[in-house]
Amino acid sequence: MGKLVFATNNDHKLREIKELLSGEFDLLSLKDIGCMEDIPETGPTLETNASQKSFYIWDRYKINCFADDTGLEIEELGNEPGVYSARYAGEEKSSLANMTKVLEKMSGISNRKARFRCVISLITDGIEKQFEGIVEGEILLEAQGSAGFGYDPIFLPEGYSHSFAEMSSEEKNKISHRGKAVEKLVSYLKSLN
Ligand code: IMP
Repeated sequence: MGKLVFATNNDHKLREIKELLSGEFDLLSLKDIGCMEDIPETGPTLETNASQKSFYIWDRYKINCFADDTGLEIEELGNEPGVYSARYAGEEKSSLANMTKVLEKMSGISNRKARFRCVISLITDGIEKQFEGIVEGEILLEAQGSAGFGYDPIFLPEGYSHSFAEMSSEEKNKISHRGKAVEKLVSYLKSLN
């Protein structure tokens, strides 16, 4: 398969995915290929955003690549923040402000059902394929734990008694939206070899 670029500037995601690929592929970051731009993600859905990011790299560098887009979908908020998860509380993309906004909107609401949904867009030789991963859970009443990133401290995965931010990255990877999407990505990549 050769080189594969993961089109993200998020070091947490890069580390997570490197662990999941466990050295089987020659994974490159945007820095590794000298791409310092902020890749636009202006689509209306996770699917269009993931595609937009991976084609941005393919069109300019012609290297096989993948990009992910993830959203937190809260049932009682009509699946908000969804595609707007990164900038829910404003353009500063502050995790703390985003979590505060979610907790405020969810105050007094008893149905706390939520899920993380991750869409990966892979491009090999100019052809796109998408993979989806979902983890169901609920929004906690307050933040718990300090590991991970983004909304991890307020997300309790179904069947667990601690938040994503109270788990090791190995534990989170096994059950997470991105873990599941990457699992599908890896088995597809292996089938190409
Ligand atoms: P994006 O996929 O980088 O656009 O992520 C959108 C938003 O979801 C960002 O605010 C991230 O912090 C958040 N997010 C993405 N993945 C995770 C995760 O695994 N845990 C918690 N928050 C996440």
